[in-house]
Amino acid sequence: PVTFYPTRKETRSTCCYCGVGCGVIITSEGKQIVDVKGDPEHPANAGRLCSKGATLHLTTKLDARALYPERRLSRDLPRDRVDWDTALDHVVDRFADIIQTHGPDAVAFYISGQLLTEDYYVFNKLAKGLIGTNNVDTNSRLCMSSAVAGYKATLGADAPPACYEDIEQTNCLFIAGSNTAFAHPVLFRRIEDAKAKNPALKVVVVDPRRTDTAQFADLHLAILPGTDVALFNGLLHVMLWEGLLDMAYIRHHTEGFEALKETVREYTPKMVADICGIGEKDIIQAAKWFGAGPTLSLYCMGLNQSIHGTEKNAALINLHLATGQIGIPGAGPFSLTGQPNAMGGREVGGMANLLSGHRDLANAAHRAEVAQLWGIPEVPAQPGKTAVEMFEALKTGEIKAIWIACTNPAHSMPDLNPVLSALQHAELVVLQDAFNNTESNAYADVVLPATTWGEKEGTVTNSERRITRVRQAVPNPGETRHDWETVVDFAQRLERKLGKANLLFQYPDTESIFNEHRETTRERDLDISGLSYHILETQGPQQWPFKAGATQGQARLYGDGVFQTASGKAQFMRAVYKGTADKPDARHPFHLLTGRLRDQWHGMSRTGTLAQLYQHAEEPVVSMHADDMQRRQIKNGDIVNIRNKRGNLVIKVQQSNEVKPAELFIPMHWGSQHMQGLGVNALMPSAFDKNSKQPELKHTAVNVEKLQLP
Ligand code: SF4
Repeated sequence: PVTFYPTRKETRSTCCYCGVGCGVIITSEGKQIVDVKGDPEHPANAGRLCSKGATLHLTTKLDARALYPERRLSRDLPRDRVDWDTALDHVVDRFADIIQTHGPDAVAFYISGQLLTEDYYVFNKLAKGLIGTNNVDTNSRLCMSSAVAGYKATLGADAPPACYEDIEQTNCLFIAGSNTAFAHPVLFRRIEDAKAKNPALKVVVVDPRRTDTAQFADLHLAILPGTDVALFNGLLHVMLWEGLLDMAYIRHHTEGFEALKETVREYTPKMVADICGIGEKDIIQAAKWFGAGPTLSLYCMGLNQSIHGTEKNAALINLHLATGQIGIPGAGPFSLTGQPNAMGGREVGGMANLLSGHRDLANAAHRAEVAQLWGIPEVPAQPGKTAVEMFEALKTGEIKAIWIACTNPAHSMPDLNPVLSALQHAELVVLQDAFNNTESNAYADVVLPATTWGEKEGTVTNSERRITRVRQAVPNPGETRHDWETVVDFAQRLERKLGKANLLFQYPDTESIFNEHRETTRERDLDISGLSYHILETQGPQQWPFKAGATQGQARLYGDGVFQTASGKAQFMRAVYKGTADKPDARHPFHLLTGRLRDQWHGMSRTGTLAQLYQHAEEPVVSMHADDMQRRQIKNGDIVNIRNKRGNLVIKVQQSNEVKPAELFIPMHWGSQHMQGLGVNALMPSAFDKNSKQPELKHTAVNVEKLQLP
């Protein structure tokens, strides 16, 4: 290619939005990113990008960026611009004072699945290794923690067994609780291609809504919200009856089947049809296609964001174990990661209940291993607060200072009003972010400006366990710093302040952090002891495990039928249908569902700055079925008040056949920065799954009142 601009260069990196993890090639001229295209050599996308990824270069204007540190000394004062030393020393002094007065558990870190693995690693080590608190959790708690708990309960480790290539090798795609067409668009293009090439491929979609993904399906099981476990148990019942199970696989590689058999005995097609609100014939058809296989299950927030998220995940994995459809081409349970690096965060143990290298905080031997790796006396055993618990503890004053990085809890948490009150009354809120247009920004006492996509170095791991380099194409704008650099600088200052001479944070660059992380994975299920930045540079993105001496990563797991459990056998988990946290009643007769749009991402801090990305959906609306509109004399475009005990939302109505009667849908993207009111998350329950601690952000019960505007 001819280079017309002397300063023009191309940099390979990764898209910063969803967990597909598409490779991109960034074109930059001097300090400016001027173009982006899909990387044809990246295995996740082979050159493709969706509408969000393809417009990344247009989101690099600096108007919405936090460009220099800010601080305020009191809540009734505005923040002032300060230099980095002043900002960090202020946070060090306040943290040290709170820790010395109230103990290490009086501070907390709430971080993000959008951080890079190296950022995540140092945050986790700062909290658990230096300060001595396990109060470090992440917005991945709202995203993937039920998938983690489901895998661990059944397969023994948080390791998705399948890979993207399985889409091309399957005969049945069973998509549950995932609008793949919108949430993972490039993967959906792959599904469309696979269907075009293989007419025998059956696509079954389980979703209360008739989403774009459901419209593509051969069979759409439009179940009532929250009834997934009943459906999955019903499918197992039918497969048992029809002789579609792999009894040899069950005998040799699993435990607990007899007890599960007793549980699913009562889930007859008739009973399941009644619970789920679908036809018996459809249940039997889905079971036959699933049983014939090979079947690949793709699933996401519809299963995870539930008070029974772990059971929903496990009930689906049960179907794969019972049919032996795991560890072979075209088959397996495959959770789709929501965020670009929720997987990397789990690898480094960046959650309140985890430790580095897929270790568990509750396991004393694991704590001792990590303490030895870090060269510290011990890792504290006291469990940390998970996302919902963390903001509850902030509200009660048990936690006094919170450091939020690369996420926007004032928009994304469920039951927002108490969360906002907690942020309002906290002694100290530190916000480390690249953007200044988030709802959380208003609550920050200290803003630490961060670099973002196109400006950072490090790695991320996508849904199929593939680690990819993220690279810096342009210099840091303003006074922004890389997230890991800010953490390391703060940690070194805090070490000095607390009189600790551990020198735990001696990292000249991200590669040195990656290499330390790599050591924590040795002999673990995610062993990447053979992987290096050099291999990622020369051989491209690699899947884990990638053991010492390996020449490539492993595409599929459990092909040998040996699992990461004490016995080496997978465990069936008995799951019983229990329903949603909020149930419709006479005062709240509607199911309100939430989800994503194709062209927006999370709280819109990046996508919301771009006019093109409003063409698909220009404003927030509530989707409502025509029968309900007629009954309530509501017309298209009318303004309604959506209300429940947690709050209300004034919003325009859009007639839609994507929802059934008595169901409503509102996208989760719009918050108070982009609309009147707090956004739909404010109405959602903070009730969470007892295993995964993931809240039920997908569903609540509400009433709808038509507003008579003057
Ligand atoms: Fe980015 Fe996901 Fe779109 Fe790929 S599919 S371009 S990773 S948002």
